[in-house]
Amino acid sequence: MEKLKKVNFDEQRCKGCELCTAVCPVNIIKMSERINKRGYHPAAVKDQETCISCGLCAQMCPDVVITVYKED
Ligand code: SF4
Ligand code: SF4
Repeated sequence: MEKLKKVNFDEQRCKGCELCTAVCPVNIIKMSERINKRGYHPAAVKDQETCISCGLCAQMCPDVVITVYKED
C-alpha cells in the first residue's frame, strides 16, 4: 500500500516562529537547516510514520503553513 503523507508544510510561508514544534504530542516537528524565501528556517516533519494526525500543529500555526491529512 502506498504510504500517505500525513502532514504537509508549505515551507515558503513559514516564519520560523516554532509554535508548532511545541504543541506536537509526539515531538516530530523540527526546524529545518534550509532557509526559505522569507529568510527563515522552516518547520518540517521527516518522520511521517509517527504523526498521529491530531491536527494540533495546523491549529496552532498563525500563518496557515500546515495541512494535516487524516486516514479514512
Ligand atoms: S498532526 Fe499532530 S502528531 Fe502530526 S505533526 Fe502535527 S502536531 Fe504532530
Ligand atoms: S507555527 Fe507555522 S509559521 Fe510557526 S514555525 Fe510552525 S509552520 Fe512555521
